[in-house]
Amino acid sequence: MLMPNRRYADLKASYLFRRIDERVAAYQSAHPGQPLYRMGIGDVSLPLCGAVIRALHEAVDDQAAAATFQGYLPECGAPFLREAIAAHYARRGVTLDPDEVFVSSGASDELGDILDLFSPESAALVVEPAYPAYVDANVIAGRRIVHLASGPENGFLPAPDGSLDAGLIYLCSPNNPTGAVYDRAGLQAWVDFANRRGAVILFDAAYEAFIEDPALPRSIFELPGAETCAIEICSLSKTAGFTGTRLGYTVIPRVLERQGMQLHAMWVRNRTTKTNGVSYILQKGGAAVFTPQGQREIQENIRVYKQNARVLMEALDRAGLWYCGGKNAPYLWLRCPGGMDSWTFFDYLLAEIQVVGTPGAGFGACGEGCFRFSTFGSPADTREAAARLAALLG
Ligand code: PLP
Repeated sequence: MLMPNRRYADLKASYLFRRIDERVAAYQSAHPGQPLYRMGIGDVSLPLCGAVIRALHEAVDDQAAAATFQGYLPECGAPFLREAIAAHYARRGVTLDPDEVFVSSGASDELGDILDLFSPESAALVVEPAYPAYVDANVIAGRRIVHLASGPENGFLPAPDGSLDAGLIYLCSPNNPTGAVYDRAGLQAWVDFANRRGAVILFDAAYEAFIEDPALPRSIFELPGAETCAIEICSLSKTAGFTGTRLGYTVIPRVLERQGMQLHAMWVRNRTTKTNGVSYILQKGGAAVFTPQGQREIQENIRVYKQNARVLMEALDRAGLWYCGGKNAPYLWLRCPGGMDSWTFFDYLLAEIQVVGTPGAGFGACGEGCFRFSTFGSPADTREAAARLAALLG
């Protein structure tokens, strides 16, 4: 008889964002026509930039003529895109062989799929509050999870310590949900720890493009020793508005080995077995992001989201709330006022001012009492949400 994977029963009852959607839907059906100001889920509001749209159209036309038509591409990514991404790293001082870059359908897919490389016996360390998919993917895989709580006392950037026993280490910097960013010394401590322990860091760099302080590392491979202990998972979702278009990339250095097995070679084998790669059209669109024109245009969009962050920060300042993030990251992480728990604060904001945020409890137990605002909303909605917040809480 077929046995289902019983670990699904160990997952939390519902995924955070589904639970939010349900509460919002219930509110909307009770208050039809009432506008909502969505500062919750991290989806972008600006469309793809002109350089990307042109490249996508051209790629569609390529598929219309026998002379330019593309069938299957290499499973690990088209050479033109792998080269463009490697050149992008080179401009920031990180030397990669284009073959060390794997094109993906996005960071979420990779964060789940990459677990194929590791035995379920190796525990996974998750720095919390954390993007919920880290824990859920490991529960499904049957891996023991070591939860490392962080808080304002360490700026939500905990350091490794000798008592932590895990083979896989998830780090997300800039962090979702807290907006905290490791500096070089903080990240180097994790790289040295992983190398000493023979652990592997899964470095989620989905928000690297939001770092504006040049002293902060945007890639873990800016740090010496990272090539022997880290895999970097990146996404064009927030960098370039690809949340609905889907494209990302993962860097696995050739020298990364554990117990005589080369993780790069294993991932090539995995990809050639489990995927036929990402579509030609999307990879052409993705390559446009790394052109000078594409870089200028995505920066214009990022500037809009940073202005949203400033508008929200002003409102939180007026309300006298403690918060972090917002400067080098597209999220603001605040303490709920009056000791409210985070789902109570969620309901309060929804009912009183129709602002939707994300309850901190959804990111791990230590997120309770905190709340996340995303800066990816439209400027008009963000201004309205900020004015309502200041009036309600100020
Ligand atoms: N990693 C983090 C930290 C995220 O916040 C997100 C999306 O919100 C992802 C990964 C997923 O990105 P993608 O859209 O590329 O799947």
